[in-house]
Amino acid sequence: MFFIDPHIHMVSRTTADYELLALSGVVAVSEPAFWAGFDRSPAGFVDYFRQLTEFEPARAAQFGIDHYCWICLNPKEAEDLGKAREVLAEISRFLDQPNVLGIGEIGLNKNTANEAKVFQQHVQMAIDAAHRQAAGASPAMPHALILIHTPHLQDKLKGTRLILEMLKDFGPAIDPGRVLIDHVEEHTIKLVKDAGYWAGMTIYPISKATPQRAVDMMEMYGPERLCVNAAADWGVSDPLNTHRTMHEARRRGHPLPVLLDVFYNNPARFFGQNPRFKPKPMQVAML
Ligand SMILES: [Zn+2]
Repeated sequence: MFFIDPHIHMVSRTTADYELLALSGVVAVSEPAFWAGFDRSPAGFVDYFRQLTEFEPARAAQFGIDHYCWICLNPKEAEDLGKAREVLAEISRFLDQPNVLGIGEIGLNKNTANEAKVFQQHVQMAIDAAHRQAAGASPAMPHALILIHTPHLQDKLKGTRLILEMLKDFGPAIDPGRVLIDHVEEHTIKLVKDAGYWAGMTIYPISKATPQRAVDMMEMYGPERLCVNAAADWGVSDPLNTHRTMHEARRRGHPLPVLLDVFYNNPARFFGQNPRFKPKPMQVAML
């Protein structure tokens, strides 16, 4: 079974983890820009974006893994509008790098007014990026792909609603099929899927969903437009939680084509809307 890991922060993982992922069937990873555990200076962000676009793809390639990433100022550092302005000014040149899939993970952390403002600026940047790359193509040009972080449990429902409202305010400029809203749980997955967005479920050892709850959600709301990730980073997390979720689904009797869809084809379909993403959806043939 092959996997695409749709959300992992490899800059905080060891090279041994790349080998572990490769041995576990992972052929591609997608790494959203994230908080480092401390607030960085604008210059620190530029170094981080270089790490995501230059160093990590080379480290992943040693294990036959394609490394893709997303660029943004994460919501946890969006409170300082002056810093946000400086970091956003640096983002557009990185969007042209060959392993960048789009803008992310943007979103909300504490649902503040400044976080909302910076979220909207990022969305506008995704809309403008497509026009800039197409150099004056038609206004129907699709926006850059967007990956969205929803807040931690106590703020999640309110934050998800706010995010959906802000996206709606952009009208037809935003195509829900080109936006993935991550870290959904039982109380937010329906809102996200009903509005036509892609949903990501995150499986953590001590917070967020468990493999069992994730498979319950998959059974209740369907495997379409659904991705599963372990969001492994520098905190308590485990890159194999994606695989544990696949095993839970398999144990419950979900057939191979469904497993392949959720853990490989769905990320390939969502990311593949950017032609830079190479893995293509696969079919299983029973002989
Ligand atoms: Zn993340």
